[in-house]
Amino acid sequence: MTTLLDTPQQASRWCQRQRDTGKSIGYVPTMGALHDGHLSLVRRSVSENDITCVSIFINPLQFNNPEDLESYPRSMESDLVMLQEAGCDMVYTGSLETFFPDQTSSLENSVPVEPVKLRGLEADCRPGHLEGVKAIVERLFATVGQCSAYFGEKDFQQTLLVKDIANRHGEIDVVVCPTVRETSGLAMSSRNQRLSTAALELASCLYQALVEADNAWRQGERNPLRLEQLMQDKLDRPGIEIEYATVRDPLNWTIDTPTHLNDSAQALIAAYIDGVRLIDNLALGSCGCSES
Ligand code: AMP
Repeated sequence: MTTLLDTPQQASRWCQRQRDTGKSIGYVPTMGALHDGHLSLVRRSVSENDITCVSIFINPLQFNNPEDLESYPRSMESDLVMLQEAGCDMVYTGSLETFFPDQTSSLENSVPVEPVKLRGLEADCRPGHLEGVKAIVERLFATVGQCSAYFGEKDFQQTLLVKDIANRHGEIDVVVCPTVRETSGLAMSSRNQRLSTAALELASCLYQALVEADNAWRQGERNPLRLEQLMQDKLDRPGIEIEYATVRDPLNWTIDTPTHLNDSAQALIAAYIDGVRLIDNLALGSCGCSES
């Protein structure tokens, strides 16, 4: 039976009791409205740890747009059923007040991270978003304590930031898991629920654009501007509003597009379809997709 706790303070005590009996903890932070992408992280945690806990908290601090926060899908009851079936041992929730009892509206007192990790792409398009992620991730890590924490590669910039936070924290081992996709290639996302059937079909263009860049990369293309152009051409369709379609060196994050790429590249896209903001990314040269 999955234990449900209402505050981070209760969750913290629960996790400590598990550690006191020698159990390893796997932890999956989420904002709920769970799908197979989230569950892949939970299943991996279950397979690698004695105990798995999941948090469900829609963090207002990381929403730069109040309407997006308002319309973010919520489905607590079905989430709990899915988590129980996936073998999750404990789920906890909280509120801004219980996560930040000392400083509800302030992001002060947090650990410094490498400044570039809070810059570029998502930081430019969603001012304050990464700072909001950083604030809550610090609290989530402090709540659970020593654990392996599972994150999806789908939120690529988030993974860079949380790895940096975890390095400074010292007790958290971050595990980055592959993006789970629909058969169309569309990355699973809680926001997909808000797309019409036609928009869902159009949204698969994001993945097709990433595959286009991947094919070119495999054929030796290393010019960042040409890789970007290929993606932009693929996304040039009525109904798709591109925020960015670009490449970065994942091992050396830069605010702007690098002038050249060597051994590794991450293609990243953000676009609006039907008023819904979607993001996706792909490590070039690493996906199992065909070149056709
Ligand atoms: P969220 O509820 O959107 O905050 O996501 C919680 C965690 O699930 C984050 O680490 C996400 O990167 C991860 N996640 C979301 N979608 C997917 C997906 N399609 N595949 C793998 N992980 C995902």
